[in-house]
Amino acid sequence: MIRYALICGDCEHAFEAWFASSEAYDTQARRRLVACPECDGRSVSKQIMAPAVRTSERKVAEPDAEAFAKEFAKRAREHVAENFDYVGEDFAEEARAMYYGETDDRPIWGETTPEEREALKAEGVPALPLPAPFAPKKPKRRPGGAVN
Ligand SMILES: [Zn+2]
Repeated sequence: MIRYALICGDCEHAFEAWFASSEAYDTQARRRLVACPECDGRSVSKQIMAPAVRTSERKVAEPDAEAFAKEFAKRAREHVAENFDYVGEDFAEEARAMYYGETDDRPIWGETTPEEREALKAEGVPALPLPAPFAPKKPKRRPGGAVN
C-alpha cells in the first residue's frame, strides 16, 4: 500500500488516498478514476511535498513504504516506552485491578500467558495485543516491582 497526498485541480482541495501501488495510482489517474472528495473533480494530481527530491528525469522520489513502516513502528515503540508503565508479568493482575476500580487507570504494558489473555477477554477487561514491532525493549525492573 502506498499513500499519496493529492490535490484537486478544480477546487484545490488537498486530500490523501491509499493505493495498492504506485502503478495502481498511475492507472487510476490516467483513467480519471481518482475523484476529489469535495467536488468529484477528476483533475487530481499528486501533491508535491517539500522538500521533494527530484532525479535528473525530473521525477519526484516516491515515499518508501518500508521506511515508512519502520518509522511508524519506531514512533509507536517510543510512544509506548514514554507513556506506558511496564508491569511485566503482572499485566493481567494490574489490568484487572484497574478494570474493577481497585487502582487508578493508567497506561500499562506487559506480558500475559495465553490463559491470562483468555481470562481477561472473558471478563471483558480491555487489553490488546501489542504487535511485536511496536513493543519497546523491556525496561529492567528493580526488586520490589518498581520500574526503572
Ligand atoms: Zn475538487
